[in-house]
Amino acid sequence: MTATIIDGKALAATVRQEIAAEVAAFKDEHGFVPTIAVVRAGEDPASVSYAKQIGKSFEGVGLGFALHTLPETATEAEMVALVSRLSADSSVHGIMIQEPYPKGVSAEAVLAALDPAKDVDGVHPVNAGRLAQADPAGVGPEKLNFFVPATPAGGMEILRRTGVELKGKRAVVVGRSNIVGKPMAFLLLRQHATVTICHSRTADLGAVCREADVLCAAVGRARLIKGDWVKPGAVVIDFGVNFVEGKMVGDVDFEAAVEVAGAITPVPGGTGPLTNIMLMKNLLQAARQATQ
Ligand code: NDP
Repeated sequence: MTATIIDGKALAATVRQEIAAEVAAFKDEHGFVPTIAVVRAGEDPASVSYAKQIGKSFEGVGLGFALHTLPETATEAEMVALVSRLSADSSVHGIMIQEPYPKGVSAEAVLAALDPAKDVDGVHPVNAGRLAQADPAGVGPEKLNFFVPATPAGGMEILRRTGVELKGKRAVVVGRSNIVGKPMAFLLLRQHATVTICHSRTADLGAVCREADVLCAAVGRARLIKGDWVKPGAVVIDFGVNFVEGKMVGDVDFEAAVEVAGAITPVPGGTGPLTNIMLMKNLLQAARQATQ
């Protein structure tokens, strides 16, 4: 059996079009442009290129983008002051603080200055806590009063748009970071999956992975997940971004897993293209909430 290869690029293009239409309607109704402020200290090449990418894609759908840079030598007080100012600025609807933080600057202190209502990156403890405490989807008021980090939100969008049923299914998430693994696990749980979270100390990772109807990899280790760790017919969502001899590969051994899985996201072209798009969705959500 060969898996369906999930075309993340095509999905992202569809969602992007929907967002562009929503942005146009929002501007007509409210008379302002939802705007993200990206904060960076220093010139880390990956961060510079990511910010450029955000600027281009956001402006491409009619969203506002403003970059605020500080020198690599910025102090905690300077970063806190900038984030406080942006949090208080009503023309800014979303704030994203790029890593790495300068030496000696505590992320905790900077995040404390971030208004959770503008935390479109879903990194503020208030948003992480609300996600952890959220009712299962479909239970109770469906008011989304929290922001979910864009990468796992993109993984869920892929599952939803490809019609993967999660209720009662076994889901395994490999990785427990605050920006991918943990939020992905909580999102799957909200959709009534039975979720196991694995990490570097998990015993017999292969055996746990083999139980998964939905297997999500957010590890950062090239091809860690072997083909024979995949249950036949499982849906595999690979968040991994690794470079091997200049080639981008995921956390899953794609060539082997594609022969076993029911559906699989490739790397590149799977989860990656959805990330920026979900950040746009979060910004629209923040701007809408600002009008209420
Ligand atoms: P982190 O390094 O923060 O977390 C990695 C997780 O993997 C940790 O929980 C770690 O366990 C676990 N892990 C490490 N080695 C093993 C192992 N041998 N067996 C089992 N678990 C292991 O990474 P991120 O969550 O930030 O990112 C994960 C991947 O997703 C990376 O490749 C990253 O580049 C990619 N990524 C992709 C994005 C996208 O848009 N698609 C966006 C963001 C990230 P422990 O906690 O025990 O240390």
